[in-house]
Amino acid sequence: MNKFAALGLSAPLVSALEGIGFENPTEIQEKSIPLLIEGKVDFIGLAQTGTGKTAAFGLPILDVIDVDERRTQALILAPTRELGLQITNQLQDFSKEVRGINIQAVYGGAAITNQIKALKNPPQVLVATPGRLVDLINRKKVDLSTISHVILDEADEMLNMGFKEDLDFILSHAPEEKYTWLFSATMPNDIKKIVKRYMDKPIEVKVNTGNIVNVNIEHQFIQVRRDTKQDVLKRVIDSNPEMIGVIFCRTKADTQNLANDLSVGGYAVEALHGDLTQAQRERVMRRFKAHSIKLITATDVAARGIDVNDLTHVIHYSLPDDNEYYTHRSGRTARAGKKGVSMSLVTKGDLRKINYLERQLKISFTKIEAPSNSEIYQSRLEKWTAKVLEAKPTKSLNDELFEAVKGKLEDLDAEALLKHIIQNEMNGMGVGKELPTSNDHSDRSDRRDRGDRRDRGDRRDRGDRRDRRDRDRGDRGDRRDRDDRSSREDRGERRDARKSSGKGSELFFINVGEFDGVTKEELKEFVVEFGDVKATDVKVVEVQDKRSFFEVNDAASGGVEKAMSNLTVDGRKIKVNLENAPKKKKRKKY
Ligand code: AMP
Repeated sequence: MNKFAALGLSAPLVSALEGIGFENPTEIQEKSIPLLIEGKVDFIGLAQTGTGKTAAFGLPILDVIDVDERRTQALILAPTRELGLQITNQLQDFSKEVRGINIQAVYGGAAITNQIKALKNPPQVLVATPGRLVDLINRKKVDLSTISHVILDEADEMLNMGFKEDLDFILSHAPEEKYTWLFSATMPNDIKKIVKRYMDKPIEVKVNTGNIVNVNIEHQFIQVRRDTKQDVLKRVIDSNPEMIGVIFCRTKADTQNLANDLSVGGYAVEALHGDLTQAQRERVMRRFKAHSIKLITATDVAARGIDVNDLTHVIHYSLPDDNEYYTHRSGRTARAGKKGVSMSLVTKGDLRKINYLERQLKISFTKIEAPSNSEIYQSRLEKWTAKVLEAKPTKSLNDELFEAVKGKLEDLDAEALLKHIIQNEMNGMGVGKELPTSNDHSDRSDRRDRGDRRDRGDRRDRGDRRDRRDRDRGDRGDRRDRDDRSSREDRGERRDARKSSGKGSELFFINVGEFDGVTKEELKEFVVEFGDVKATDVKVVEVQDKRSFFEVNDAASGGVEKAMSNLTVDGRKIKVNLENAPKKKKRKKY
């Protein structure tokens, strides 16, 4: 017997599922379909995107409604237009063989007049985003009085997005006597309140949610230096030519800037974030789904609309603050039984977050190195070789052309000829210099070269202003920097001597402040990364406009100044010195 039929689904649905290739029910489907098909329960499904939850509620609701009745019986609420459309499309696919079914979606960002027109023929299943539905209720264009089932999908997200009042308004317009099915990845207090208020002895089913991450995901991290993070990302992309991935950034600006930087570098990447218009977002999604672009950068919120089953990679360009977001992000890959990689690019300061994620989510990360040149060449040459083998000679390569080229190459024997061809191919691959490893802090010149690119996004706006100011004092600064180096090293030794005096910590000055857009937290990360000290040894005392002060525990402070000499950000030299060092007076002149 077909496994979906065994769960109690009707023949037309089972037949449609065979048509779209659903063979085995997922866990949430197995657990919820038999319960929901009876229809007469309140239900909580704790499941996240990618678990097959849409079918878990979508299939039973299609069997529960009466297709002969031309009134709205089921209302499905979803946080975003994208998710609403995904649900609608899936339900339409499932019900291909159900005659007389009418499923409609209403959502913001599209003309309300067309939706009002369509609602004149009331759908049995209405899929809606909360904001648009409130609008339609106020205009009296939708009748919820005949609803028997309300489904809240991604309920936690609806609340995160501020739809609490809208949900209350909508639910107050639905009949008292109804069944509510709530799906959510998490169970925050606000959801518990909804459960208490609107649900009656709900049955709870929990799968692969919260702290459980899909076992088909391989978690990896690469330790990077902040200044080479983008280069490492490029290498990861270069060494995975078949990659279809989402690169997660923390802010909309980071998302856009990274996509811009990668595009400038010749990578086909587009950004997906909330500052795009609906039409722009849809265009990006269409292109991504059709694989005309294989990589997108995205914020957590915008990525909710991504319904692509074949993502090979999720890349955390910045780790999320919340470990549930890590689960959500990672869950975008390894869907429907496939395998996937969730890769984090982390600085030294982020390592504790990796440990934390390991403990909290009970997963283990594999540390990998940034792909080397030889790995990049190897994967590209593999692709190239396959292409060469596929390129069967056609008439366009006529005898005349062939003989002309052959005449020039025939002095080389087969092996030499092959080497020339491969080298020529490699020369055209534009693989850059090897990167220093994450632990290699010795290659200062390299770091200086790359320093300009660091944090380009945030600093771009301020760049001009500061550049001008820096040029004014640049010469002086450079000279002083050179002159100071040896004496600074002397001071380092003196400080080492002082360490044993048992003082608690040393106070350092750094010529970076609010003007540069740094927060205490960012400055701390910067010091940890470049000052070669542990986060627990550093405390940022104060961030002023153009300078800041931080303390480093005595035992760890000896090498800070030296480690942070010769750093450049946006073309400006970073100065770090002991606040009570002999040079203090001289420095105050600036
Ligand atoms: P969802 O969690 O509902 O967003 O589903 C994730 C993806 O898995 C969707 O694209 C579904 O088409 C697919 N899917 C859901 N259930 C199954 C199943 N039983 N077999 C194969 N694919 C499925």
